[in-house]
Amino acid sequence: MANIAFIGLGNMGGPMAINLVKAGHQVSVFDLSKEAVAHVVEQGATTFDDAISCVKGAEFIISMLPAGKHVEAVYLTPSSGLAEHIKPGSHVIDSSTIDAKTSQKVASVLAEKGINFVDAPVSGGVGGAVAGTLSFMVGGSEEEFAQVKPILEAMGKNIFHAGQHGAGQIAKVCNNMLLSVLMVGTSEALQLGLANGLDAKVLSNIMSKSSGSNWTLDVYNPCPGVMENVPSANDYQGGFMVDLMAKDLGLAMETALASQSSTPMGALARSLYAMHAASGNGAKDFSSIFNVFNHDK
Ligand code: NAD
Repeated sequence: MANIAFIGLGNMGGPMAINLVKAGHQVSVFDLSKEAVAHVVEQGATTFDDAISCVKGAEFIISMLPAGKHVEAVYLTPSSGLAEHIKPGSHVIDSSTIDAKTSQKVASVLAEKGINFVDAPVSGGVGGAVAGTLSFMVGGSEEEFAQVKPILEAMGKNIFHAGQHGAGQIAKVCNNMLLSVLMVGTSEALQLGLANGLDAKVLSNIMSKSSGSNWTLDVYNPCPGVMENVPSANDYQGGFMVDLMAKDLGLAMETALASQSSTPMGALARSLYAMHAASGNGAKDFSSIFNVFNHDK
C-alpha cells in the first residue's frame, strides 16, 4: 500500500481521498477549508497544518484544485511551493482541470528536481468520485502512466493514457466542451416539449430510447422531477458548478484559438454559460442552464 498526500478536498477531492483510504492506502490530506479536511479525516485520513508537512515522505502526491493559478501556486511558489519539498522519485498526479500549458510548466519544473508528474483530469462528476468510477485522462510518459495507474484504479474505472504531458488536459476540454453542448441541447429540447404540453418524464423516456439519447438526458437530466439523486432534484445544489464549466469552456476556446480550430457550438455554449454565471448562477450545478430556456419565466 502506498503513502499518498492529497491536496484539495472539495466536491471531487474529498470522495476521491476517501476511496484511497478505503483501498487501504496511508493518506495524508490538506485543504484550506477545515470543514473539508474534517470530513475526510473522519474516514481515516491523517491531516497536517500545512501542505508542506502533508507531502513530506509521500510517494504519490495528488492535487484536485479549482484552476491553473491554484495548481501553479501550490507547486511552484518560491520556497513555499511543493516542488521544493517533495522527495525526488515521487509521483505527482494533478487531477484538476487546468490549461495544458500550466500542466506542462509544472511537469518540467518537477522533472528538473527528479519528480515525476502526470496531468490526470477526470470525468464522471461527484457521483463518479463517490462511487470510485471516474474516468481519468492521463498525460505523461509511458513509465509515468504505468506507475500511477494502480493508484488511479482505487478512484476510477477507466484509466486512459491520452499522450504526453498536457494531453490529458486537452482530452478533458474536448470532453467538457461536448458535455456543455449536449446539456444545452438537452435543455432546449426538454423545454420545447414542455412548452408544447408534453410531460418531461415521458419525453425524456422517448428521447433516451431514440436517437437523442445522451448522458445529460439519460443520467443527469436537467429537468426537476424527472430523476432522483441528480442536482436538478435538489435545486441544482452540489454537482459541477456553472463557474467551473464556464472556466473549462474558456480553456476549450483558448485551445481552439491556439490550434486555429473551428468550434462554433463550443463558442455558443461558452457564451451561454458565461451569461448564466453572470446572472448569479455561478455556484449552481451546470444543469441549471435548463432554466435559461424556461418558457414561463
Ligand atoms: P471545489 O471548489 O469543490 O474544491 C476545490 C478545493 O480546493 C476546495 O476545497 C478548496 O478549499 C481547495 N483549495 C483551493 N486552493 C487550495 C490550496 N492552495 N491549498 C489547498 N486546498 C486548496 O472544486 P471541485 O468541484 O472539487 O473541482 C476540483 C477540480 O475538478 C476543478 O478543476 C474542476 O474543474 C474539476 N472537476 C470537477 C467536477 C465536478 O463535477 N465537480 C468534475 C470533473 C472535474
